[in-house]
Amino acid sequence: MSARIIDGKAIAAQLRQDIKQRVDARLAAGRRAPGLAVVLVGHDPASEVYVAHKRKDCAEVGIHSIAHDLPAETSQAALLALIDELNANPAVDGILVQLPLPGHIDTDAVIERILPHKDVDGFHPYNLGRLAQRRPVLRPCTPRGVMIMLEKSGIALAGLDAVVIGASNIVGKPMALELLMAGCTVTVCHSRTRELEAKVRAADLVVVGVGRAEMVKGDWLKPGAVVIDVGINRLASGKLVGDVEFSSASAVAAWISPVPGGVGPMTRATLLQNTLDTSEDRG
Ligand code: NAD
Repeated sequence: MSARIIDGKAIAAQLRQDIKQRVDARLAAGRRAPGLAVVLVGHDPASEVYVAHKRKDCAEVGIHSIAHDLPAETSQAALLALIDELNANPAVDGILVQLPLPGHIDTDAVIERILPHKDVDGFHPYNLGRLAQRRPVLRPCTPRGVMIMLEKSGIALAGLDAVVIGASNIVGKPMALELLMAGCTVTVCHSRTRELEAKVRAADLVVVGVGRAEMVKGDWLKPGAVVIDVGINRLASGKLVGDVEFSSASAVAAWISPVPGGVGPMTRATLLQNTLDTSEDRG
């Protein structure tokens, strides 16, 4: 068997096109462009790349991105004051604070300061709580992006046995809540899980977000499973790989998302979707 590829890059490109059309329609109706404030503290090289991508993506679809690049020594009080200012600014629909923040800043306090309806990353406890109650408002970008990929690929989810490997607040936990909402029976695995392989082997759908290169092998999978690889790992050779060993897994699975070109582009496009959605809600 050779798996069908879930082409996140192509699905994300289509999503961006749809978003651009809706932004254009807003402008044609005399309304303002959605606004996204992107806050970067310090000079973490990976964060600088991510933020540059987000700003470029905004420009492509007509979302107005407002840059706040702050020095690494910015105090927590100054950062919270900036968030208060952005919360009060009617031209700002979404606020994104790039993580990780420098060690002297309390990340939870910063996330909780963002007004929930401007929290386009979906990390605020209010948004996670609403997702848990099956009444989502703003949904975390990576899991929502995965749900869009599955939907666009025509994969029916209700009743599937799903295993999510990884239980972080930004990937694994909201992913499990999304799948539960879609009617899956969900098992969440993490670093303390026993007999991980056996649990994966029983799953119709496996989502892996751990951060360990090629950890899940083809012989762990149930033949015909759907495999979504969230992991991003750079090998010593410079090659980017996921948490799933693509060559062996694609011989067993029915569907698989590759790395690169799978979940990564969907996460980026979903941030734009969240920003547009919240701006539409606000008129
Ligand atoms: P994290 O370190 O916060 O969480 C990792 C999770 O994996 C934890 O719940 C931990 O218990 C679990 N884990 C660790 N070792 C394990 C093991 N041996 N077996 C089972 N579970 C284990 O990481 P994160 O922020 O959730 O990110 C996970 C991965 O997803 C990383 O590779 C990250 O780069 C990637 N990521 C990708 C995107 C994207 O858009 N593609 C977005 C966010 C994160």
